[in-house]
Amino acid sequence: MRSFTHEGPVQRIVFGIDTIATVSTELHRLNVTKAVVLSTPGHRQLAGRVADLLGERAVGQFHGAVPHTPIEVTEQALEFLRNRRGDAVVSIGGGSTTGLGKAVASRLGIQHLAIPTTYAGSELTPVLGETAGGEKTTRSGPELMPNTVIYDIQLTATLPWSVTVPSAINAMAHAVEALYSPDANDHTDVMALQAVRSIDQGLHALHDDRHSLDACSELLYGAYLAGSCLGAVPMGLHHKLCHVLGGTFTLPHAPTHAVVLPYVMAYNEPVVLGVMSRIAEALDSDHAPRAVQFLIRDLGGPTALRDIGFTRADIGRAAELAVSRPYPNPRDVTLDGVTHLLQQAFDGTPVPPM
Ligand code: NAD
Repeated sequence: MRSFTHEGPVQRIVFGIDTIATVSTELHRLNVTKAVVLSTPGHRQLAGRVADLLGERAVGQFHGAVPHTPIEVTEQALEFLRNRRGDAVVSIGGGSTTGLGKAVASRLGIQHLAIPTTYAGSELTPVLGETAGGEKTTRSGPELMPNTVIYDIQLTATLPWSVTVPSAINAMAHAVEALYSPDANDHTDVMALQAVRSIDQGLHALHDDRHSLDACSELLYGAYLAGSCLGAVPMGLHHKLCHVLGGTFTLPHAPTHAVVLPYVMAYNEPVVLGVMSRIAEALDSDHAPRAVQFLIRDLGGPTALRDIGFTRADIGRAAELAVSRPYPNPRDVTLDGVTHLLQQAFDGTPVPPM
């Protein structure tokens, strides 16, 4: 007999082509009259476009978002919001900008409308990583969840290929770890397997035709499903390891996910054979970790930690940090195991078949 408690996110999702045009209507639904648009310095133009669409509802633009949500930037944005008497933020950009939106909206108790332009998935989670004094900490709570998310397929069409591949694999990692999460359920399994299929198909289609909006749509849809999994169930070794490599060793977020994923899949494979065969089937392959590694390699994504700023001397310290606190993972996480995994990921060694 079944018995459970399920609390779904209270969040409105708008997905499609040119959905950015609905931003003013969507803010109206949230009873917002004075919004501040957030972006990175590189996305000023995009922020300006949103402000134009908002007309009088936009009371300013803050272009200071940077990776890892440093507290100093959050304080500058808070000051800006207070001066403009903003009652909402509209974040437009990748996970770095969404993170700033979460940091600001949660502190002021105001609304947050997120317009993601990468596949990171932060817009669908009640989680925020922030950096203070060089240390990255994570907190979670319903107040961090953006109220509305607008996915505009066209916005992802401008992503450089060097960002697309790692970012898409970053999303795939959410789906993979959801499938062997201790809280995995039919709901997340269905979303995760469709996410794996859509990301794989979308990436191949976009590789064949970089201008295909159908391909962008498939890929963004997969990322949306994967992000929903990330927000719904706890993640395992892969996310912990990438958090350590990004937070302590300042490796770039999405490329780190892309390099590490096949190795963590191979590490966990012996105890989750059923999950791996479902992923392999979704990828039309006979071995999931190798299929993911081939996908990344064939599409020109990063395959070795040494190529993205990691040094061999840091392997021991990173492994120690990754095993320092318990977290859910199907296979026991040992110091020897993680050290070996990191050595392979450092060199980009091909993952062997089981
Ligand atoms: P990012 O936001 O730094 O963006 C990556 C790169 O893509 C940047 O160079 C950016 O300028 C570029 N870019 C973004 N959109 C573009 C577009 N439409 N066209 C051209 N270039 C574009 O990185 P990210 O990978 O999106 O997000 C990583 C950050 O998000 C990390 O800080 C990570 O910790 C956080 N994150 C948090 C969660 C969560 O649940 N809290 C989940 C995923 C990621």
